[in-house]
Amino acid sequence: MATIRIAIIGAGMAGLKAASTFHRVGINVTVFEKSRGTGGRLATRRTKFGDFNHGTQYVTALNPDFKAFLHQAENRKAARNWNPNLHRGALAHLHMPSQSITDGNAAKDIWYQGAPQMNKLITPLLAPFEICKQHRIIRIETAGPRNFVLHDDMDGEFGPFDGVIVTAPAPQSAELLQPLAARFDPIADVEMAPCWAVMIAFAKPLPTAFDAMIHPDPAISWAARSGDHRHLIHKPSPDLWVLHASPEWSRDNLEEDKERIASRLLDKLREASGAKLPDVVFINTHRWRYARTIKPLGKSHLSGMNGRVIAAGDWCLGARVEAAWRSGKCAAHAMIETLIG
Ligand SMILES: Cc1cc2nc3c(=O)[nH]c(=O)nc-3n(C[C@H](O)[C@H](O)[C@H](O)COP(=O)(O)OP(=O)(O)OC[C@H]3O[C@@H](n4cnc5c(N)ncnc54)[C@H](O)[C@@H]3O)c2cc1C
Repeated sequence: MATIRIAIIGAGMAGLKAASTFHRVGINVTVFEKSRGTGGRLATRRTKFGDFNHGTQYVTALNPDFKAFLHQAENRKAARNWNPNLHRGALAHLHMPSQSITDGNAAKDIWYQGAPQMNKLITPLLAPFEICKQHRIIRIETAGPRNFVLHDDMDGEFGPFDGVIVTAPAPQSAELLQPLAARFDPIADVEMAPCWAVMIAFAKPLPTAFDAMIHPDPAISWAARSGDHRHLIHKPSPDLWVLHASPEWSRDNLEEDKERIASRLLDKLREASGAKLPDVVFINTHRWRYARTIKPLGKSHLSGMNGRVIAAGDWCLGARVEAAWRSGKCAAHAMIETLIG
């Protein structure tokens, strides 16, 4: 078994779940990640004003095995419960009457966040397998009937590998996989929506009882305090907020300049809140070109090349972290079945 070598593209939840599954059964696995950190869309931006969770906002679990994962993360202090004062719908004013505040959320499902920041949620999946960061894989090449070689954008060549799992968002996976086999053509039918995220540090706490707002304005699908803000009661620290533009607004303004996006969405929050907002001490934006799945593949993974190359990721099953975890797990089990039986 020690001779089997697997490559995984992407160090988000799907890729790391797959990697930890291989590692547990003693298979040699290497993860390639184009960015500097791990977690993918479980993302945290470090700034001198504090840490912003500008991607995933909270994680829920429908199935017992993912619930068990979240409990394990909680026990390892990599996850915590989040029960925000939540407002749903258009804001008339930041000081809405108290009945607008729900205790947590109406569905009564439990919301988790990574701890101390969102990108730490993957901590229980990390083990001594190799993660090659800042390696963007641009081509997968066959090297004999059962082997694959990966090429990155700095002329690096890696392998050979007995199997490859690709966990990039669907359009990026399609670019890598469609040249290999027509089996991967259905990835092109998956639809993912973009999301402009704005990170704002207010000099003083926003004068509102809400920690999170769903659709406070047609252009803003989500606005929430970011990170742990309990210390604000005692210290005049900046109040950190993340705004997510709606999929429609993000699509219509996808190629817009970052500074303009920041000021337009801040203006929209200002208008929706009907209040004078505190001074802004920091503002930045992040464009998620592929944020949320609109139309998933409809199955946990897609195999080609006799089961030795597999596409996985949240987009196979849905738009949530649990979908990514499940897809990564199923892809790894399918590959193990192919290689070991
Ligand atoms: C703004 C936003 C808000 C969200 N809110 C929620 C929420 O509240 N709750 C929820 O459950 N889900 C939410 N999601 C969705 C959730 O983040 C995803 O479902 C999940 O994180 C996807 O995990 P993944 O591993 O499939 O993909 P990713 O996290 O995207 O991981 C893929 C990784 O592959 C890397 N990669 C891509 N191409 C290459 C390449 N060529 N070479 C090397 N590496 C590559 C990427 O850098 C990335 O790290 C949100 C997403 C966004 C963007």
